[in-house]
Amino acid sequence: MAKNLNPKCKQCRRIGEKLILKSDRCNSPKCAMVKKNYPPGAHGSKRPGKKSDYALQLTEKQKAKKQYNILEKQFKLTFKRAEKQKGNTGENLLKLLETRFDNVIYCLKFAQSKSQARQLVNHGHFIINNHKVDIPSYQVKTGDIIKIKEQSKKNKNFKQLLEKLSKQNKIDIPSWIYLDPKELTGKILHEPSINEIQTNINSQIIVEYYSK
Ligand code: SF4
Repeated sequence: MAKNLNPKCKQCRRIGEKLILKSDRCNSPKCAMVKKNYPPGAHGSKRPGKKSDYALQLTEKQKAKKQYNILEKQFKLTFKRAEKQKGNTGENLLKLLETRFDNVIYCLKFAQSKSQARQLVNHGHFIINNHKVDIPSYQVKTGDIIKIKEQSKKNKNFKQLLEKLSKQNKIDIPSWIYLDPKELTGKILHEPSINEIQTNINSQIIVEYYSK
């Protein structure tokens, strides 16, 4: 399976925004966007800032790909699917990205980063409606019940996760998903509305990029 092997913090610095590709470090003063908020490279801090419209569109697309941890081919396929759906293509795109199985695993706090979520899904640690699902791009739908496999709960990482979640007073989960932290079970309450998707991606700019 193809992977993006570029160092995560350099990806943020190249885009010029926090993409939250690591875990706790992203919200700490150690974040590279706090310490070196300029593009990587010897002359990064001296580069002029003005970008063309095309460069802005390309950057927005790259930002979405990196945030959802997917490669070009799959991103383009997702865009084409969004185009075929009724309604606003940009909003459809965000909904399709948001309801990817690996993203939902990350939102449920079952993984510390989206790349870890993808890896855990690939390794078959989760079941949806009593069936093992190991496809990160699987689109979840209303009513889906997501659980960690019983066997996997014995795994040291999941035990630590359970302990961590049980100590938290408030777990920040998107409103379209429900989490039972004691059972480590999630449920898709409904399809996310565009207002429920917390993102800094301007999907309209991505639509402009593909409409050229
Ligand atoms: Fe990006 Fe900062 Fe997280 Fe590194 S630590 S991945 S720069 S948000």
